[in-house]
Amino acid sequence: ATATMAPFTTNLNDVFISVKTTKHYHHSRLPAIIDTWFQFARNQTWFFTDRDDPYFQNQTNGHMINTKCSSSHNRRALCCKMSVEFDRFLDSGRKWFCHFDDDNYVNVPRLLKLLDNYNPREDWYLGKPSIPAPLEIIRQGPEPQKRPQKVKFWFATGGAGFCISRALALKMTPVAGGGKFITVGDRIRLPDDVTMGYIIEYLLKKQLTVVEQFHSHLEPMKFLSKDAFHEQFDSKLDIMFTTSRAKSEQLKFPRTFTTSSTLFIRHCNREMQER
Ligand code: UDP
Ligand code: MN
Repeated sequence: ATATMAPFTTNLNDVFISVKTTKHYHHSRLPAIIDTWFQFARNQTWFFTDRDDPYFQNQTNGHMINTKCSSSHNRRALCCKMSVEFDRFLDSGRKWFCHFDDDNYVNVPRLLKLLDNYNPREDWYLGKPSIPAPLEIIRQGPEPQKRPQKVKFWFATGGAGFCISRALALKMTPVAGGGKFITVGDRIRLPDDVTMGYIIEYLLKKQLTVVEQFHSHLEPMKFLSKDAFHEQFDSKLDIMFTTSRAKSEQLKFPRTFTTSSTLFIRHCNREMQER
C-alpha cells in the first residue's frame, strides 16, 4: 500500500532509458551496470556505443546499439550519439526519454516514482544543472547584417542523467529529429547536453525543471563516503549516483562496494515490489 497517491502511474514500459558508452569503456564500465540496475529494466535500457561488440550484445540481450558515430571524445561524436539516442526514443513510442552516462547508477524504481509526478503529455525537461547560473553564449542569427545576440539558457548535465517527456520530444522533432540534433550542435559548437538545453530552453522556450535527486560525478559521492552509509542507502537512496566514483572506492574498500551493490539490488527489489 502506498501512502500518497501520485498523479500518474509510470510503468517500466513507459520509459526509454539510454546509456551513452564507447568501445573503450565496455569492459570497465558495463559489467557494473549489467550486474545491477540493468536487471530491473532489461527491456527498457539501451546502450549507445560506437562499435559492434558481440560479447556485450549477448550480455544485454541485444541492447547494444552501434551508432556508427566516431569513438573519439569530441563534441561532434557526442552530439552524434545523442542524436541517435533521441531518434531511437522517438521510434520507441514510449512516454519518457531518460538519458544516462555509463558511469551512472540508476535506481530504477525511484526513477519511475519521480516520473509519477509529471504528465508525459505535457512538456517536461527534468534534470540537474552543474553550473550556478544559466549558460551565456553569443549567437550570430541567420541574418548576417544583424548584430550577434546574447543567448542565455540552462541545461541538464548529461552526466547527472535527465528525462524528457514525449510531448516535449515531439515538439523538438522539427529541429532535432532525424539527425538534425547534430546540425544544431554544429551550429552552436557546444556539447550534446548543452545542445539539448539550447534546443529546449532557447529554441522552444520550455524550462528545465531541476530535480535534486540526479547526481553527477561533479558532486561528492555521499553514499559511499558517509559512515551511516547503510542507513542512507536503505532509506533515502537517490535516483542515481556515479559508478566511476564507486569504482575508485572499490579499489580502496572492495567489500564496501560489493556490499553496496548487493544492498542496492535488495533495495530496488523491495521498491519494485511495492509498485
Ligand atoms: N564517452 C564517449 N566517447 C568517448 C569518451 C566518453 O561516448 O570517447 C562517454 C562515456 O561513455 C560516458 C560519457 O561520455 O558515458 C562521459 O565520459 P566520462 O565519464 O569518461 O567523462 P566525464 O564524466 O568526466 O565527462
Ligand atoms: Mn563521467
